[in-house]
Amino acid sequence: MLRTVILAASRSSRVERLVATAPFTRDVVRRFVAGEGTDDALRATRELVADGLAVTLDNLGEDVVTAEQATATRDEYLSLLGALHAAGLTPAAEVSVKLSALGQMIDEKLAYDNARAICQAADAAGTTVTLDMEDHTTTDSTLDILTKLRKDHPGTGAVLQAYLRRTESDCRELAYAGSRVRLCKGAYREPESVAYQADRDVDRSYVRCLNVLMSGDGYPMLATHDPRLIAIGEDRARWFDRGPDRFEFQMLYGIRPEEQARLAAEGYTVRTYVPYGDDWYGYLMRRLAERPANLAFFGRALASKK
Ligand SMILES: Cc1cc2nc3c(=O)[nH]c(=O)nc-3n(C[C@H](O)[C@H](O)[C@H](O)COP(=O)(O)OP(=O)(O)OC[C@H]3O[C@@H](n4cnc5c(N)ncnc54)[C@H](O)[C@@H]3O)c2cc1C
Repeated sequence: MLRTVILAASRSSRVERLVATAPFTRDVVRRFVAGEGTDDALRATRELVADGLAVTLDNLGEDVVTAEQATATRDEYLSLLGALHAAGLTPAAEVSVKLSALGQMIDEKLAYDNARAICQAADAAGTTVTLDMEDHTTTDSTLDILTKLRKDHPGTGAVLQAYLRRTESDCRELAYAGSRVRLCKGAYREPESVAYQADRDVDRSYVRCLNVLMSGDGYPMLATHDPRLIAIGEDRARWFDRGPDRFEFQMLYGIRPEEQARLAAEGYTVRTYVPYGDDWYGYLMRRLAERPANLAFFGRALASKK
């Protein structure tokens, strides 16, 4: 119920204005977002890489409505990739890209062209791109663009969301050699017709999908903070004899950093998803919707400013 309300608010520009101008918001944002500029992104990446973690960087923003905004997002990624390369942070750092920020809602071809330019820049920088997955109305379009991009850029990563009923079958399709697939639970509000609603059904789906990916030929990227799912991932890695170069764990910046360090110390590849930029509203609201404790963090920040 709370989750539904927060996810509805994530699409409201009135609530956005309220949250964005509230004095305590900055402290909450700082916990989940590395900063606003490319320099902030590089600083966070440097620190994480020094701690033995891999990184994927997300320039915050989604649902752009003009071609100019989409081009600006593309250009930000091009300059970010150049800066990461110059700083010697590739291949440890790659980038995550939302096609809706590259014009998917305006014209699929525009989003594809922009994504292809980013893939070319990533190749030149010696690293890869992963296409984030957004709400279910974009899944087919995103997977179509992925297929096209992989022709010239086979390292391009996909994301599949365990809450969608279709995902186990998508996992089977994508579990081929060289295919990088991030498996997450899914962060959007989706109707029952397409998505499991109960947490336990989503978790069960996650395990089925994890089994498909870990027993397949691709490169699974297990994106979750859930201790039970992480333990199952560790178990399957032993069972299928997957070492640190054959799968990875992924978690979000600012969430369970001790667990990220523990897994890295155990010898696993762990990648932290690092968002940066000033368009943080939708991202922040999805994080708050996921976990009441995150909302309490908001409350504490509010109380401390009173
Ligand atoms: C690297 C990465 C990339 C992602 N990319 C996408 C994407 O492209 N598209 C998309 O829809 N979603 C994406 N997500 C978000 C994802 O779909 C989930 O919404 C999000 O990860 C929360 O799900 P969870 O698996 O962590 O489990 P949850 O159900 O949120 O949490 C399960 C359990 O994990 C533990 N836990 C969670 N948070 C904390 C915390 N702060 N401190 C301590 N314990 C905690 C608790 O035990 C909790 O009960 C991504 C997530 C990650 C990690």
